[in-house]
Amino acid sequence: MIRLLLIGPPGAGKGTQATIISKKYGIPQIATGDMLRQEVKSATDLGTKAKAFMDKGELVPDSLVISMLEKRLKEKDASKGFILDGFPRTVAQADALDGKFKELKIDKFVVIELKVNEENIIQRLSARRVCNSCGKIFNLMTEPPKKDGTCDDCNGSLYQRDDDKEVTIRERFKVYNSKTAPLIEYYAKKGMLKTVTADGSIEAINKSIAAIIDKAFNG
Ligand code: AMP
Repeated sequence: MIRLLLIGPPGAGKGTQATIISKKYGIPQIATGDMLRQEVKSATDLGTKAKAFMDKGELVPDSLVISMLEKRLKEKDASKGFILDGFPRTVAQADALDGKFKELKIDKFVVIELKVNEENIIQRLSARRVCNSCGKIFNLMTEPPKKDGTCDDCNGSLYQRDDDKEVTIRERFKVYNSKTAPLIEYYAKKGMLKTVTADGSIEAINKSIAAIIDKAFNG
């Protein structure tokens, strides 16, 4: 059973890769950023609390994200494996996940770090657009939509996330380097970390990830 954690700075391509892997292996993509954006859209209690942090590029407090994630892991589709995209993001979240995995008797999972060049990413992220209807991700520089402002798949309109503005991106990198980067060492010490250089094309990066998955879970 495939259980995968994707870690990397904002814009490293976690979401894009997680979507491809999720389809290829038939396992759910659990993206805490997407879940939180959905809560904001539905104006739930959690969404209202989370929005203030998200708009500034800061992390939503651990307690809120951890309980949201724990609830999600209990859903039926997660029993056949999953790919976690954007969680854990702090050592406290990783510790909570560790506890949850012990409780669920999950002892095999792989952590893949997507490693990228910061300046390339800042450019790539400011060009990112998302479909407001199906969530498909485009990039005006590398993966533009066929028709300006319109989703190729569902004709929804494309928008720029508030947190993809350049100042916010720089703040998100700062947060990543101070809060999330320590997880690289955390998982390396446990012998669970694999690193993929993620500056290349979507296909090339996916090939490296698939090779790691196949070796770890099917080999
Ligand atoms: P993402 O789509 O993964 O880049 O997440 C967008 C925003 O949601 C982040 O900048 C955080 O404010 C928030 N967020 C997503 N996942 C987490 C997490 N695991 N812990 C704390 N905040 C999160």
